[in-house]
Amino acid sequence: MSTKKVLGKNTEKIKNKQVLIVGVGGLGCTVANLLARVGIKLIVVDHDIVDDTNLERQILYDKNDLLKSKVSCVKEKLSQFTEIKSINEELVEKNIQKIISKNIDLVIDCTDNVKTRLLINKYCNKNKINWIYSGAVSNIGAIFFVDNKNNSPCYECLQQNKDGETSCEIGVLNSIVVMIASMTTNIAINYLVNGKIEDKLLRINFNDNTLMKINVKKNVDCKTCSKK
Ligand SMILES: [Zn+2]
Repeated sequence: MSTKKVLGKNTEKIKNKQVLIVGVGGLGCTVANLLARVGIKLIVVDHDIVDDTNLERQILYDKNDLLKSKVSCVKEKLSQFTEIKSINEELVEKNIQKIISKNIDLVIDCTDNVKTRLLINKYCNKNKINWIYSGAVSNIGAIFFVDNKNNSPCYECLQQNKDGETSCEIGVLNSIVVMIASMTTNIAINYLVNGKIEDKLLRINFNDNTLMKINVKKNVDCKTCSKK
């Protein structure tokens, strides 16, 4: 397989890895699609159903899927490539322990929801599980790998000076969604295959086609990750 040729001799490790994708909207569809096709085992969590406003960017769904549960569509379409477990629930405090089990190698946030991200952030910090925040709103996207095994800055450190707009509120370009999902997938695979961690915040702006890599400092007063 050509992707595996590029990734080198460690790709066999991929088959033993399990990734949890929280949210299978625009970002989650593309991340799931790419990871499944290289054989990574997936768990997908979402409680949403497909509606016709999703179809322009949620590329695993088509008109025949309207009103079906998103996770069941993902399972139906990607099971031919890998093992997929679908959980038709919203990730909340009550079920997070059941859903994010200790044998998950990486959690990828594709939620478009700050509240759920904060929940993932707190839980993964406490249980030393690594996760990737990825988000896209309007024509801008961002990705950050939270390395809880090495006490990196967390999502809350990142959030200090930000507001919480979501793509539901102000819309999002389908092209930035696929770009962010693609880079997120690459960061995930590099970690799972070679243990490489992207420690910078990536910010991509499709207004002027720029990519910025930004150093993130740990907030010494962070309620989640500070040792104070
Ligand atoms: Zn923090």
